[in-house]
Amino acid sequence: MEIRSAAVVCVGTELLLGNILDTNSRYIASRLCETGIPLYRKFTVGDNPERMKETFAQALGCADLVIITGGLGPTRDDLTRETVCELFGVDLIHSDEAEENIRRRLAGRTVSENNLKQAYLPAGAVPFYNSRGTAPGFALSAGGKTVIALPGVPHEMKTMFEEWAIPLLRAQSGCVIVSRNLHVCGIGESRTDELLGELEESRNPTVAPYCKSGETRLRLSARASTEAEAKLLLDGMERKIRVSGVGAHIYYVTENDADAERAAPLAALDRLRREGKTLSFAESITGGLLAKMITDIPGASEHFLGSAVTYATEAKCALLGVREETVAKYGVVSEQTAAEMALGARERFGSDIAASTTGLAQASPDYKGAYTPDGKPIAPGTVCAAVADGDGVRTYTFAFGGGHGREYVRELAAARIFHILSGYTGGFS
Ligand code: AMP
Ligand code: MG
Repeated sequence: MEIRSAAVVCVGTELLLGNILDTNSRYIASRLCETGIPLYRKFTVGDNPERMKETFAQALGCADLVIITGGLGPTRDDLTRETVCELFGVDLIHSDEAEENIRRRLAGRTVSENNLKQAYLPAGAVPFYNSRGTAPGFALSAGGKTVIALPGVPHEMKTMFEEWAIPLLRAQSGCVIVSRNLHVCGIGESRTDELLGELEESRNPTVAPYCKSGETRLRLSARASTEAEAKLLLDGMERKIRVSGVGAHIYYVTENDADAERAAPLAALDRLRREGKTLSFAESITGGLLAKMITDIPGASEHFLGSAVTYATEAKCALLGVREETVAKYGVVSEQTAAEMALGARERFGSDIAASTTGLAQASPDYKGAYTPDGKPIAPGTVCAAVADGDGVRTYTFAFGGGHGREYVRELAAARIFHILSGYTGGFS
C-alpha cells in the first residue's frame, strides 16, 4: 500500500496550556522528509476523548498516514490506544510480548496495574517496542489508512521513530527525499530570490530559501528511488546555482539540520582544519559569543586557542595592548581599535589568526562611546571588526541598524566574522 501523505497529531493538554513546547512535531516533520512522504497538516489536541476522536478522524480524512505522539502513558488521561481502537472498530487486546518488554524495562521494580495497561494494543497492530521507556507504540493499517502512535516523551519518541517508524515507512513509500543546504551570505533573501529566478520553480529538486540570522539558507530537496540518485539530482541543481548570480555568495554547504544550524562556525573551523591554523578572538560587542559558537563544535580545541572578552577600554589596553592614544583619537568603536585588538590577541594567544569585534548595539544616552572623539554620533548597530593573520590586518565596519536589540546585532556580527574566517570573499551589501 502506498502512503502518499501524512499528518501529525500531538496529544496533551499541557501543549495547549503552553506549559510544554511541542518539539515532537518539528522532529517528525524533519525526519519524515527522508521517507519521501510529504507532511500535509499538524494538529494539537488535549487529553479529551471526544476531541481526540474528532481530531484523529479529521487527520485521517486529509492524509494516508497519521502519526500521533503522546497519550500512551500509564495514567487515566492517556487515551490514544482506546481512541484509535474506537475509530478503527477494533478491540484492545493483550500482547504477551509487550508485557514481557515492560517487565524487562522495569526489572527489579514493582510492575503496577497501570504499567500493565500499556501491554494492551489495538488488535492487528504492529507493536513498536520502547527501548527508552515502558510505553510501547504501534502501527495500525486498515482501509488504506495507517496510524502510527508514539510516546510523548521526546527522547522515547525519537528513538522509536528511528528504530521502528522510519524503516516501516521507507519500505512503504518506495522513495527517499534527500536534502542539502547551500548557505548564502552577503546578500539578503529577496536579492537571492531575484538571482535564482526560475531555478526556484524546479519541482525536483525543490529549492526553498529561508532567512536565518546573518544568512540566507537555500534548502534543496530531491526525491528519488535511492539516496544515490537523489544526490545526483542535488549535485545537478547545486551546479546550476553555483553558476548563477548567487554562486559567489555561497560560503558553505551542509547535509543535515544540525550542521545547518551552526554552519557559520563550522565553515570557519573547516578552513582552519584545511590550512592547519589556530585562531583566537578579542571580543567586545560579541561578549564571548564567538567563543561560545566555535566551542559548541566538537574538535574545536585543536584549532581554537581562546578569547579575551574585553568590554571596558582599560581591559582592551591591559589585556590586548590596545593603545590609549588610539582609543582617544579614533574612539573605541573604530577600525583602528578593532585592528589593535586583533593584533594584540594574535600576539598574546600566539595564534595564526585572530579576529576582533567592537561596536555599539543600542544607543544609551549616558554612554560616552556613542560619539566619535571628534563629536560625531555613532549609529546604533555599528560594529567594527578586524582579522589579523600572517599577512597583516584587515578591518571592516558593519552597519546593522538600530532598533533590533543587542542580541540581533551580536548574532549578525558573529555570523559575519565566521563568514570572513571561512574564506568568503564575495563581499557584503
Ligand atoms: P504522554 O505520552 O502523553 O504521557 O507524554 C509524556 C510527556 O511527554 C509529557 O508530559 C510532555 O512532557 C512530553 N510531551 C508530550 N508531547 C510532547 C510534544 N509534542 N513535544 C514535546 N514534549 C511532549
Ligand atoms: Mg499526555
